[in-house]
Order: sequence, then structure tokens, then C-alpha cells
Amino acid sequence: MASVELAGVVKSFGNFPVIHGLDLAIEDGSFTVFVGPSGCGKSTLLRMVAGLEDVSDGEVRIGGSDVTDADPVARGIAMVFQNYALYPHMSVRQNIGFPLRMQGVDRKTVAQRVTEAAEVLQLQDLLERKPAQLSGGQRQRVAIGRAIVRNPDVFLFDEPLSNLDAELRVSMRVEIAKLHKALGTTMIYVTHDQTEAMTLADKIVVLRAGRIEQVGSPAELYTNPATLFVAGFIGSPRMNFLKARYADGRIELANGVSWPVPSLAEQPLDILVGLRPEHFVPGPEGVTLPLAVDIVEYLGGTRYVYATLGEGQVIIEDRGAEDMASGQIHDFAVDISKALYFTPAGERLRPIA
Ligand code: ATP
Repeated sequence: MASVELAGVVKSFGNFPVIHGLDLAIEDGSFTVFVGPSGCGKSTLLRMVAGLEDVSDGEVRIGGSDVTDADPVARGIAMVFQNYALYPHMSVRQNIGFPLRMQGVDRKTVAQRVTEAAEVLQLQDLLERKPAQLSGGQRQRVAIGRAIVRNPDVFLFDEPLSNLDAELRVSMRVEIAKLHKALGTTMIYVTHDQTEAMTLADKIVVLRAGRIEQVGSPAELYTNPATLFVAGFIGSPRMNFLKARYADGRIELANGVSWPVPSLAEQPLDILVGLRPEHFVPGPEGVTLPLAVDIVEYLGGTRYVYATLGEGQVIIEDRGAEDMASGQIHDFAVDISKALYFTPAGERLRPIA
């Protein structure tokens, strides 16, 4: 096990900078997820930790040692990729044992470590099969097995579940979470899927255009996003953003509904009010929003109501039982104490206490 630190890390491809001086401390034994939209630099960052990509400036430390210029094999890491990268002509047993054989480990130890990894990943009955005879999920388990046998200080996962169908992704996600619990090894995991990030991580690093937008636990990012970007990226269905005007200590929506928020800003300004779908419930500081219902999606115990407010669409998580028809105007209660406020440029506005 080992901590990982990035200090002032910069990466440019030619003259094109993609990571802009990034500082990050990853604790020993933690599960950290890099998440962000396509092209934000998460794979590049992981590859720099792995030593598969040169660092243009700054320092990478693993277990306190500077490994910025060290070879990948000298870093004590094992990486699992999206495309499994298994050898098709080798059996599962041979694939899992391959990195150890390359290191010249003796046959008895290889056999023992392969058996242990196969047990952890429940691959015991598949050891003699070839990759072509396995499902996608089983292949990815073999790829993880090949990482486990190396007994690394840090596991690096680059979108490992992206090639799997939705159901298998959920079950493999649980497998990886269990693996982290069982091994207690530092894991860094890259995904563009915020649900994967929320369910797996101790700590999420939200990246945007080569910079860290926010670092925090899933709950912190969900309840206390630092920016409009994080508020919109984390959470599914996503947070609703309603256009509003702030003046004289009150917020007023386009439809005239208003409520007091003293000391949000010193002068009048246009703002966005952030409300999660589950905030449409009566609260201690409640307001009522009349909205035009478009579509109702029934999910069993709960339903999502897609409604229109002015030009914008709003998604509401609703547990009510009464009929709600499209086209109908319905009064939705809102717990306005839960609302977050942002400038249109994306900065969070916090009422001054
Ligand atoms: P995705 O989810 O699409 O994989 P990502 O967040 O992992 O995206 P990276 O693959 O790290 O993004 O890429 C970050 C940026 O660096 C992108 O703009 C990409 O085009 C650029 N980039 C990545 N690899 C190279 C390369 N070898 N040469 C030039 N530019 C590159």
C-alpha cells in the first residue's frame, strides 16, 4: 500500500497543454476516482501516475518517493484497462500468472498466487478456458486477477467497465468495491460515469479541462458543490437550474415566485437557482411552484415528473399518488432551504451569515 502525490504536475502534448499544474494528495489505502467529461485529462493523469506518459513539469510521488522519471515496473503499480488486453492464445491461468512469470518468479509461487487471485475473483472454474470462451465480465475479472497477483502498492483502473453492458457494470462495480475492502490497497479509478464515481469512491476528484474543479467525498460533492459545473455533473437525474433575479434581499423567478435570501450579494444580479429533483417537497422554508407537467415516468415507489417552467425543463422526484396528466398545471412544493445559488458564470453564491 502507498500514498500517491502529484505536485505542480503539468502535461503538454507538443505546444498543447492538457494538464495545468495540478496538486493532489491521495491517501494510502483510499479509493480515489477521477471523473469528468471526455477530454478533461483524467486518463492522461492516470497514465502519468503509471509512468506510461512523461510528465512535462512537476513531480509524481508514490509512497513518498519521487517516481517522476521512474519506469512503470519500478513504481509498484498495476493497471487495469478498458480493453482487458488479455493474450488470446493463453488460458486464464496463464494470463493471470503472466506478469509473475515475466518477473522470473518460481512456478510454485506463481501457481499459489494464481489460485489465491482466482479465489478472490471467483474464477476457479474457468482457469483452463481461453479468453474467447469468456463473457466480457469474466474477461475483465481475469485482467483484474493479473493485476492482483503482482501484489501492487497501488491499483490503477482506466474505465475498466466501459465495455460491459449496463447490468454487468453494476455487478462488476460491486465486485471492485468488495475487492478494495478485502485488499485495502490504494486504488485510483478513472471514469466519465458519475454514478460509478459516487458508488465507488472515498474521494472524488472532479476534473474539467485539465484542472481540478473540486475534491471531496461523494456526499460532500453532492450536498456542497463548489461550482455550477460540479452541481450539474454530480447527481442523476441532474440538478435543475432555474433562472432568477436577485435584488433587495429577495430571489424572484421568471414566473414571479419569490422568497427572501438576505445578504446573497451586494448588488442586484441575475442568478441560477439550483434545486435537486428530491428538493420538491414541503420544507420549513417552503414555496410553491406552479409548473406545467410534460411527462410522468413511473419507477415504482417513486416517479419523475418532467415539467416546464418558462423556457426551462425541470425534473421532479415525486412520491405522491395522485394522478398527474400531461398538460396539467400542478402546484409543486419546494424545500427552498435546500436551494443552491450560482452566478451565470458558474460560481457558487453563498449567503453571508
Ligand atoms: P476520455 O474520457 O474521452 O478518455 P479523458 O478525460 O481521459 O477523456 P485524456 O485522454 O486524458 O482525456 O485527454 C486529455 C486531452 O489530451 C484531450 O484533449 C486529448 O485530445 C489530448 N491528448 C491525449 N493524448 C494525446 C496525445 N497522445 N497527443 C495529443 N493529444 C493528446
